Amino acid sequence: MLATLDAHAHLDPSRGADELSASGAVLAMSLSLDEAERALQRSDPLIAWGVGCHPRFPRAQAGFDAQRFRSLAERTAIVGEVGLDTGSRVPLETQLKTFRQVLEIAAGMPRLVSIHSYRATSMVLDELEHCPVAIPVLHGWFGNVAETKRAVELGCYFSIHSQVARQSKFHNHVPLERVLVESDHGYNDPPAAIPCRVEWVEYLVAQQYGLEVEELRRVVWNNFTRTVHETDTAHLLSKSLVKIAEGL
Ligand SMILES: [Zn+2]
Repeated sequence: MLATLDAHAHLDPSRGADELSASGAVLAMSLSLDEAERALQRSDPLIAWGVGCHPRFPRAQAGFDAQRFRSLAERTAIVGEVGLDTGSRVPLETQLKTFRQVLEIAAGMPRLVSIHSYRATSMVLDELEHCPVAIPVLHGWFGNVAETKRAVELGCYFSIHSQVARQSKFHNHVPLERVLVESDHGYNDPPAAIPCRVEWVEYLVAQQYGLEVEELRRVVWNNFTRTVHETDTAHLLSKSLVKIAEGL
């Protein structure tokens, strides 16, 4: 059976390979460049580790360095978690400076970019409009209908969390080919619980679009495969992930 694909989760890169092998396929986000550095040393068959700088973490933001980000991003298919958050203690000016540098680098180096936009939905879209990237993925999206339509027009994908799926009617505005699903699982949660959480959101999203869960899972994988082709990043993913993505 096809593995679950979680498009946005946080896994502790210091966990053992055995423990992480129970997580299903995961695009694992990092909060800081330091964390990304550690994560990228790993080779887990079904995990793609991202390079990110989270807008809520003052130390990560203060330690952001564009050159270092670029060299880490060269080694992975995934950028994240990055973005903006007006509820954060980090000054917006600092967040914007980081996010703009990230987008600029990702504009010249096609990547799937997983973007946080809490209380900053239209601000994030403004930045994407100004500096488009190959595959922007809005994670934990709480935009209104007009913003969601605008995001679709800007080429955004959506990694849908169960909380969001319960509140928003994605099927009214978001074409199925832009849909991914996520757990946003935290470090301290057991990795083995991820497939259950992904199944729950798959169930909710499948219902919205009038699909069976298995069909939705296949759609999600197909969408991911398309992002890999469009960014030409298969060589940066593990062989096992590529095998699933290409074998559909
Ligand atoms: Zn996250």
